[in-house]
Amino acid sequence: MEKISVTAQKRRSLWIVFGLTFTYFVVEVIGGLLTNSLALLADAAHMLTDVGGLGLALFAAWMSAKPATPQRTYGYYRVEILTALANAAVLFLMSFFILYEAYRRFQEPPEVASLPMLAVAAVGLVVNLIGIAMLRKASGDSLNIKGAYLEVVGDLLGSVGVLIAGVVMLTTGWYYADPLFGVGIGLFILPRTWGLMAQAVNVLLEATPSHINLAEVEQVMLKIAGVASVHDLHVWTLTSGIDALSAHVVLTESVGTSVAEAVSERVAVAVKEKFGIGHTTIQVERRDRKSSEEPF
Ligand SMILES: [Zn+2]
Repeated sequence: MEKISVTAQKRRSLWIVFGLTFTYFVVEVIGGLLTNSLALLADAAHMLTDVGGLGLALFAAWMSAKPATPQRTYGYYRVEILTALANAAVLFLMSFFILYEAYRRFQEPPEVASLPMLAVAAVGLVVNLIGIAMLRKASGDSLNIKGAYLEVVGDLLGSVGVLIAGVVMLTTGWYYADPLFGVGIGLFILPRTWGLMAQAVNVLLEATPSHINLAEVEQVMLKIAGVASVHDLHVWTLTSGIDALSAHVVLTESVGTSVAEAVSERVAVAVKEKFGIGHTTIQVERRDRKSSEEPF
């Protein structure tokens, strides 16, 4: 089994951005409470999606170095998926809190300390820009880091939103701007959270990974010499970046059992080259026993 390797240099960039984002998340929560700004609190929740995404990317990189044991033959790969699920659940709760709080504040918008709020938001913008610059250099080939990079880019919009709300309140005293932008940022979190949760649930359901077309996998296998038919074909994700395949391959009548090993080897090489699936289990059969003996 192999894993997208993340070099030490890239990992250091990830750690720095993680540290910066997490620190700013704490600053923003405190700032949001002190200035009474819902927009800041909503942006803090938004920041937490980045902290979660970066944390998962780091976690995946660290996990790939941990050996499996006889008790946990896959090591701790699935912990990443469970963490993603927990992260999504927390974010859903936070979004609902923000929407409820915004509803409450729209009745009678409380005064917000706009100047300190602007200062906190400006720091956030700088943190985001540093993160973007560092992750753009590190992204490139790693899917995990690319995901983290895209999230930080998305977060830039949140900081800009808080800045606009702050300027509006400072210049006009129109305090509706705060819950208004708070709701906007809160809603912005939802699609990403939904995507994260759906992805994690699909992995737990052993669903076929979205980038794999199962019919295409079967076609590739059928083209291999000696293969008459394929059944019981499964492709699933162990954890992000690691897919596994199992299949039953029925040999053509004309070939002898002696080629069984060669056929299964050719199948394994083909799915690895075509679909990047490195972990395959192939069962070679003389005839199709599917209908009577095998449930899947
Ligand atoms: Zn079979």
